[in-house]
Amino acid sequence: MFKRLSTMTEVVDVKAGLRNVLERIAIVSKNRAQQKPVQLVAVSKTKPVEAILEAYEEGQRHFGENYVQELQDKANDPVILEKCKDIKWHFIGHLQSNKVKKIVKLPNIYMVETIDSQKLAETVNSSWEKFRLNEGSKLKVLIQVNTSGEENKSGVDPKEVSDLYDFMNEKCTALETVGLMTIGEYGYDYSKGPNPDFISLLECAKSIKGNESLELSFGMSDDFERAIEMGSTNVRVGSSIFGFRAKK
Ligand SMILES: *Cc1c(COP(=O)(O)O)cnc(C)c1O
Repeated sequence: MFKRLSTMTEVVDVKAGLRNVLERIAIVSKNRAQQKPVQLVAVSKTKPVEAILEAYEEGQRHFGENYVQELQDKANDPVILEKCKDIKWHFIGHLQSNKVKKIVKLPNIYMVETIDSQKLAETVNSSWEKFRLNEGSKLKVLIQVNTSGEENKSGVDPKEVSDLYDFMNEKCTALETVGLMTIGEYGYDYSKGPNPDFISLLECAKSIKGNESLELSFGMSDDFERAIEMGSTNVRVGSSIFGFRAKK
């Protein structure tokens, strides 16, 4: 079934896109040593609610958004609230302290993947404690690592990951710090060999005590298969499911 989902002339079959990505994930997952199942986060940023409904109907539950206002609109959308009761939102964008309250109050917020300082961790922790912890569960979070060292990218320096992880584990008791995330350099040329950003994230994971069960969020449309081969447990895929995205 083809539906017109964007203002562009492009026509996207979201269900077919999703099935294709899931198939490719299943194939590479078989060939790797690590046993942890791979979670697909469907990145729906800039895409309309109908596109999310299509993917949800096809069985997708984890969705990622990286703009606070857009996530707020979608998570509170009456149709999403009615039809997608089991949806799990991942916030994957840069989070400013003054927006934390908006994020923790969202219906069905599941994970914040972009904690990149002690200060932000403390703010999210106290905010979750105040507004949501009484509902029974901790908020899952990942530490975002700036593996490429680009100044315009968010994330902690790889050298600081282990300290931040220890801090969050000890002090941020309303949070469940489950792993690490990186975006890395866009458009990496794989003819040069394995992606150094992914190697760097794996090294950060090794620097953490008792790291066996860490979740590792890396890999997007262009390279999620390579990321899974290297040990990613959480791939964030947008355009391969939802089609071309106009730049904001
Ligand atoms: C947009 C985005 C993605 C998905 O990118 P695609 O190339 O469309 O798969 C993944 N992660 C983050 C943090 C993003 O902002």
